[in-house]
Amino acid sequence: MSLQKVLGKTMQLDDRKSSGEKTDRLRRSIDSATTIPNREVDDLCEAFVMRVITINFITCAVKACKASASSFPLHFQDVEVEQQEVHFEPAFIQNLLPRIDWTGLRTTAIELGFPTVPDIKPNNDTLDEPMLRDLHRLLLETQVVEGKLVCGNCGHEYSIKDGIANFLLPDHLGSSPSLET
Ligand SMILES: [Zn+2]
Repeated sequence: MSLQKVLGKTMQLDDRKSSGEKTDRLRRSIDSATTIPNREVDDLCEAFVMRVITINFITCAVKACKASASSFPLHFQDVEVEQQEVHFEPAFIQNLLPRIDWTGLRTTAIELGFPTVPDIKPNNDTLDEPMLRDLHRLLLETQVVEGKLVCGNCGHEYSIKDGIANFLLPDHLGSSPSLET
């Protein structure tokens, strides 16, 4: 299964509670975000519901931060976390693993109070079902509903409300930010 498909699923889940305004806000957020190279913009569409998987695919929208290693991952602060049940598909998690930035995931996991992520990314030999279930719970079922994301480079804070992060930048930080690939 593709990343797009799971994010599609995510979108279905979120559609149920999306108002027009919320969808609008989400699209504007997507328009202004900067992505990590090699991650397709389309894949990220509607992905800004703050699941742990999402944070592994985005970085600060401030242009000057793009080249800085300290801008990834964005750091969660003052968060309220919810678990939302998602159907467990071990093959999906397995296929997703190569695209995960493991160091970034570990940082995020510790910030959210999941201390059990192994030091080294598991491979097909070391990956067992309990670990797949742990990763499923962390990546797909853990959602940040309130709080903020803070850039480790420029210190900019992105607020998260109703599970959606706002990536619009104030004018003085550079208008018309765009998605660059
Ligand atoms: Zn930044």
